[in-house]
Amino acid sequence: MPELSNRTENFTDSVIRRMTRISNKYKAVNLSQGFPDFEPPKEILQRLAEVASEDFHQYSITWGAQNFREALAKKQEHFTGMKIDPNSEIVVTCGSTEAMMSAMMSVTNPGDKVIVFSPFYENYGADTILSGAEPIYVPLNPPEFNFDADVLENAFRQKPKALILCNPSNPCGKVFTYDELKIIADLAEKYDTFVITDEVYEHIIYAPHRHTYFSTLPNMKDRTISCGSLSKTYSITGWRLGYVIASPHIIDTVKKVHDFLTVGAPAPLQEAAVTGLKFGDAYYNDLQMKYTEKKNLLLNGLDSLKIPHTTPEGAYYVLLDISEFNYDSDLVFCEELAEKVGVGAVPGSSFFREPENRYIRLHFAKKNDTLNEALNRLADIRKKIKPRG
Ligand code: GLN
Repeated sequence: MPELSNRTENFTDSVIRRMTRISNKYKAVNLSQGFPDFEPPKEILQRLAEVASEDFHQYSITWGAQNFREALAKKQEHFTGMKIDPNSEIVVTCGSTEAMMSAMMSVTNPGDKVIVFSPFYENYGADTILSGAEPIYVPLNPPEFNFDADVLENAFRQKPKALILCNPSNPCGKVFTYDELKIIADLAEKYDTFVITDEVYEHIIYAPHRHTYFSTLPNMKDRTISCGSLSKTYSITGWRLGYVIASPHIIDTVKKVHDFLTVGAPAPLQEAAVTGLKFGDAYYNDLQMKYTEKKNLLLNGLDSLKIPHTTPEGAYYVLLDISEFNYDSDLVFCEELAEKVGVGAVPGSSFFREPENRYIRLHFAKKNDTLNEALNRLADIRKKIKPRG
């Protein structure tokens, strides 16, 4: 038999998605892969039922159905305060996963360098390798997850083609301040670099923190490729609806990559999701309140169990510090956690470039009952998992 390609040699399958399979195997409460176990808004589901008997079963326009792009442009204009042309500045993709990959393939040539902050959402490693680019990792130093501006500038000196910015950040929950974003923007301008953003948690922010869209920084609109998604905002991760927003000359290239990768996002789901894109401010305020309550429930529970953890400023993840268990492998720890304690988590090492072994990631996009059940099980963690060594 001929040999398979070597494109995937340098990465494994997704550890996040593997942990879901392990959680299912042990019937653990799955707080590993981040997705809700509660229902999407009923107005969207009602529209989905209607759409089944309407004429939306063939391809939409490859870069997205007209009314979806128009509704998305209006919504993003409302939140960013910037004008967005639905015809020349948007491509609708199969989730933000495809948006990020299309953005990477649109701006990098094989051999180009790309700055990635570490810890990072694991897709970025694979996206970089699949597009033939080479990552330069810049640490976000725990426990505050701040970056050193000099280290960042050193990375820019290597002439990267792009920087990937996940804000609010998965997995560390960092919300970059305006001043931090300004440092990145100034360097992007000085070294003539694109900034590819992953802003899927734009609406999941905890007061007093605020989300600043990178494209709104001075002079950044033309060099920012903003990737987003409806998955987290409307609790529809399985619908695979994401998008790229950028200036027309970038979008022309993204359209081509997207067209040949997937042709288009699912037409009936785009149509049903328009209902969500038209929601007013009350929806987003409720979403923040709901996630703030879930965050507090989980974090207060962890505090009473005396399990040390980070405090997220945005997104829906928390990193637990498992140093006291003294494990060499956080993957083995997570397997034992699923099997013996009955809680699914993601090993922190899958997000860090540095040899970091002290964290596991839990998410809290779950019903309060599910979170309480996870906390009940975690109450036995020290009985069921003994420190090593
Ligand atoms: N973004 C989510 C996470 O980090 C889901 C990842 C996925 O499987 N697409 O868990």
